[in-house]
Amino acid sequence: MTKTLKDIITVMNPPPFHWVGDGFRVHNFFPSQSLIGLHGMSPFFLMDYGAKWAVPPSEKQRGVGVHPHRGIETVTLAYHGRVAHHDSSGNSGIIGEGDVQWMTAGGGVLHKEYHEKEFSKKGGLFQMVQLWVNLPAKDKMTPARYQEIPNNRMGKYLSDDKKCSADIVAGEYKGIRGPAMTFSPVNLFNVRLLKDGSADFSFPGPHNTGILIIEGEILLNDTEKVSENQFAYFGHKGENIKATAVENSILLVMSGEPLNEPVVPHGPFVMNTKEEIQKAYEDYYDGKFGYLED
Ligand code: MN
Repeated sequence: MTKTLKDIITVMNPPPFHWVGDGFRVHNFFPSQSLIGLHGMSPFFLMDYGAKWAVPPSEKQRGVGVHPHRGIETVTLAYHGRVAHHDSSGNSGIIGEGDVQWMTAGGGVLHKEYHEKEFSKKGGLFQMVQLWVNLPAKDKMTPARYQEIPNNRMGKYLSDDKKCSADIVAGEYKGIRGPAMTFSPVNLFNVRLLKDGSADFSFPGPHNTGILIIEGEILLNDTEKVSENQFAYFGHKGENIKATAVENSILLVMSGEPLNEPVVPHGPFVMNTKEEIQKAYEDYYDGKFGYLED
């Protein structure tokens, strides 16, 4: 059977930004936008996009203080600037341009997320994405885990004409695998296209799929222009996607198999039932998420 092009449901402009702490000025494409909602990008539950922002120099490190998570993985991708992380499992790390950190909160972790010290002092351009990848019910309480994925550890693809290169974080592209361990099938790539270069992707029809334009402008499926900071959201009708660069561009491509389970989110927790949310708060207030200095 011939594969067909995936239908483009919409090309979304970034919703108005909100602040996460004083360091992350983010546009939430989902779940706040009702077209996608709680399930429309499953297993991805949340995408906060920190569009380019010129951060003024600051002696105080901007960021968000100690807070818990349970039931999800937080995946942070840096495009400009540097982000530091500490968690109650004893893991810490700093990621910069092209790097990713993949933190599994699982049964519970405390963490804090800041602009890295030297970056804070100097200030500069900042651009990042944070995704929350929901965990399947059977893995919600898995032990916390931290995967630091520096750019040089990612799977690397380069097209024959050298106009398309991809950093594969998770899943597989053109037979090249990304290093991230995941709990359900997830594809996550950063794709760089030079002007007039093109890329094609193929994901199973039922998978939820989207492309965020980090930089530049592309033509999708020969029909739809998508510009910097816009998110293209696909339907389930076909498998293939074609992207052609109108100018030099960077695309964040994400696709995954939907979990098809109840989703009950509250604050930093994403569980399957209200009772599990209540238990998460009880465990958090009982100190069962460990300790992390502010
Ligand atoms: Mn967090």
